[in-house]
Amino acid sequence: MLKGTASLESAIENFDILKCMQCGICSGSCPSGRHTVLNIRRLVRRASHDPAVMEDESLWMCTTCYNCQERCPRSVRIVDAVLRIREIAVHQGIILDSHRKVASLLLETGHAVPINEENTERRKQLGLSELPPTVHSVPDALMEVKKLLKSCDFEEIVED
Ligand code: SF4
Ligand code: SF4
Repeated sequence: MLKGTASLESAIENFDILKCMQCGICSGSCPSGRHTVLNIRRLVRRASHDPAVMEDESLWMCTTCYNCQERCPRSVRIVDAVLRIREIAVHQGIILDSHRKVASLLLETGHAVPINEENTERRKQLGLSELPPTVHSVPDALMEVKKLLKSCDFEEIVED
């Protein structure tokens, strides 16, 4: 957790969050908000004063399509702020369990969605090699991926 409001404010001060007039055009433009609990207008408002916004699960429901940011009449850099807040949250150890699982798979296999028995079987039926020509079949490349992830402390962040 960031220690206080000032820290979050300074982290996102370049994104013009305080220019928001709560018109709601962003929410009305948001495809994700039609199917999830994401209310981007509310999230923008919360980001302006509440560090606990980092623990709001809806923060992760934005698909970064940029509809809202393109349409905002105040040119608030909504998505850039969302991405920055996510980044800060992750470095504070605030990660959804489902994301942590995906990140662990990436660390282990080099794929966020690694191949499984069912897909191996389907590949065989289609006359393909059992494994795709990715890190699954190139162990050296997997080592490179792991080295790269280690160099940016990915493991530490994921396993916190
Ligand atoms: S569209 Fe822009 S000004 Fe309107 S509520 Fe969303 S962020 Fe605020
Ligand atoms: S970028 Fe995110 S918040 Fe904005 S419209 Fe797309 S899904 Fe909604």
